[in-house]
Amino acid sequence: MITVYIAIGSNLNHPVQQTQHAIEALKTLPQSQFMQASSLYSSTPMGPQDQPNYINAVVEIKTDLSPLELLNCTQSIELEHGRVRKDERWGPRTLDLDIILYGQQTIDNERLTVPHYGMKQREFVLYPLAEIAPELQLPDGVSLQSVLATVPRNGLSIWRD
Ligand code: ATP
Ligand code: MG
Ligand code: MG
Repeated sequence: MITVYIAIGSNLNHPVQQTQHAIEALKTLPQSQFMQASSLYSSTPMGPQDQPNYINAVVEIKTDLSPLELLNCTQSIELEHGRVRKDERWGPRTLDLDIILYGQQTIDNERLTVPHYGMKQREFVLYPLAEIAPELQLPDGVSLQSVLATVPRNGLSIWRD
């Protein structure tokens, strides 16, 4: 099985519940084993600032699904959560599931780029990922910790009731 990390983001329609439900949905992926989820984090929006803060988390699974089979599954979960694709880039959304890493593979096709192109710049991906996989090495041979050291928290905090 391949170890995969999936980043969750939500800032509409009860984002904490959206995120918790997404984690539950990821536990039921076919041909997969759920390993762990990070804490929930609160982050400030990327791009347009006139939108609510985000809730983020990162989940680790092991899977026998191919990358595109996995993307089909995560996109179905997004749609089940009422995700509507709008024209605005990085606009508010009920649920975003991004495949951050698929083992040590590098994937570049029309539907899927892995590692996720933004992961090294995004505090809301790097810090939750480091919480559950502090020793991780990225496919380019760089350690997660060395990337983390270049990205400030930018207001990211662990979410508490
Ligand atoms: P960003 O990708 O900058 O985080 P976004 O998550 O809001 O923005 P989406 O609207 O969720 O973007 O996805 C746009 C397209 O990105 C999807 O249709 C999907 O095919 C493609 N995509 C490419 N690589 C990935 C990946 N690693 N994980 C999820 N989707 C991806
Ligand atoms: Mg995204
Ligand atoms: Mg996405």
